[in-house]
Amino acid sequence: MKFDVIIIGSGLAGLTAGIRLAEAGKSCAIISNGQSALHFSSGSLDLLTHLPDGSLVTQPKKALAALAELAPKHPYSRMGETQVSTLIEQAQALLSSTKGLEYQGNGDENHYRITPVGRSRMSWMSPKRVPTHGVDQALPWKKLAVVGIEGFLDFQPQFASNTLNEQGVESIPYHIHLPLLDRLRDNPSEFRAVNIARYLDKPENTKALAEELKKHIDDSVEAIILPACIGLDAEEPVMLLQQLVGKPICLLPTLPPSLLGIRLHQALKLRFQKAGGLIMPGDRAEQVDLVGNKVTGIHTRNHTDIPIRSEHVVLATGSFFNNGLIAEFDRVYEPLMELDLLETLPRNEWTQKNVFAKQPYMRFGVDTDSQLRPMKYGEVLENVYAVGAVLGGFDPLNEGCGAGVSMISALYAAQQILQHNKSEQTTSAVVEAAQ
Ligand SMILES: Cc1cc2nc3c(=O)[nH]c(=O)nc-3n(C[C@H](O)[C@H](O)[C@H](O)COP(=O)(O)OP(=O)(O)OC[C@H]3O[C@@H](n4cnc5c(N)ncnc54)[C@H](O)[C@@H]3O)c2cc1C
Repeated sequence: MKFDVIIIGSGLAGLTAGIRLAEAGKSCAIISNGQSALHFSSGSLDLLTHLPDGSLVTQPKKALAALAELAPKHPYSRMGETQVSTLIEQAQALLSSTKGLEYQGNGDENHYRITPVGRSRMSWMSPKRVPTHGVDQALPWKKLAVVGIEGFLDFQPQFASNTLNEQGVESIPYHIHLPLLDRLRDNPSEFRAVNIARYLDKPENTKALAEELKKHIDDSVEAIILPACIGLDAEEPVMLLQQLVGKPICLLPTLPPSLLGIRLHQALKLRFQKAGGLIMPGDRAEQVDLVGNKVTGIHTRNHTDIPIRSEHVVLATGSFFNNGLIAEFDRVYEPLMELDLLETLPRNEWTQKNVFAKQPYMRFGVDTDSQLRPMKYGEVLENVYAVGAVLGGFDPLNEGCGAGVSMISALYAAQQILQHNKSEQTTSAVVEAAQ
């Protein structure tokens, strides 16, 4: 099998690169080992909420210069302020033009989204159904209902409600009982957001949910907050619910599996496939053939003998969470190509005792040149690009930049690949003309 580009990993980074390349006419395959961080995420996307010195960032684009001073090896600093600013716009355009997704927010100014415990947390782009407010603004409602589902332990309305009350938004918590979910309730391990949505997304059940919600609210309630257990594949069931209840319906992310993250994953995957991209699900890249500084073939779990070949390779395997990086007792490594890593430290400095403190290991990751081509024994691999959480030099949690790094680095790598091919075509045209 031969492709223009093979992408290893189908998380946010792999899919973003795949969409850009496939829509530009490249033949692309994604080798995908399994679920990505999106299945566990809030569905909101962070671009940059803090600088490495801890200072708050409300306007990400304007903070890129300060970030470059403080963290020259941060992926944004490697790509450069101008490129990152342009690619932020591209990432936003990609999301807004993807069928089935409706996002709010932009890179000029962060917003606050409401978390499952009712706190305000800064972010870049959030699903439109998630309640948000501007940096110096309050939520647009004075009185809310926060609704839990009896027996569903992954969302506790009291927590969210208490915090919202402390912030001056009158908020009433209550639980609804839906007999139609009894079959799930019998088995607590099945009583999860995604399984609930499979029931609530059926129009007849959406109607039953609306009836139950209406029993508990009066005219003074301006909006209803529910755990994200409805609208798994599309927005229609939530729109129907809103129409039946007659009040805005907002959704909060739940514990994983997270419907809002899965919906993003599904929509991007469909867009990639629609552009002609091939996904090899349940397969795993296990070994690469290297000739000089180029990868010439990839052996996978399902294709052990005959390697898959491509002109370019995008490494989007994620961080420790998805085994894109591996930590053993006394060493950290990148398992597929044993690439050089950044910012690694002696074993006793990997972590801090206080679990809430910044953890130094979060910054470990693959080292690259300014084109995001990874290094091996100090030399650049010429036809490989590393993107997303596998990269080193940033702390997605404390700098609030996880999804931003994934999308922006993926678009940047795709751009390098497209430009590379263009310049090759120009060179061969010049050679042909000269002959
Ligand atoms: C639990 C969790 C929650 C998060 N929540 C948020 C959030 O709400 N907002 C936010 O902005 N950021 C969040 N982040 C940060 C997150 O890292 C990024 O947002 C982003 O989703 C990472 O995408 P990625 O594609 O780089 O990596 P991943 O999502 O980790 O995807 C890597 C993919 O590569 C596959 N893979 C690995 N090795 C191989 C191999 N050898 N062969 C084939 N496939 C392979 C994995 O199976 C996986 O599918 C979260 C991170 C974690 C871990």
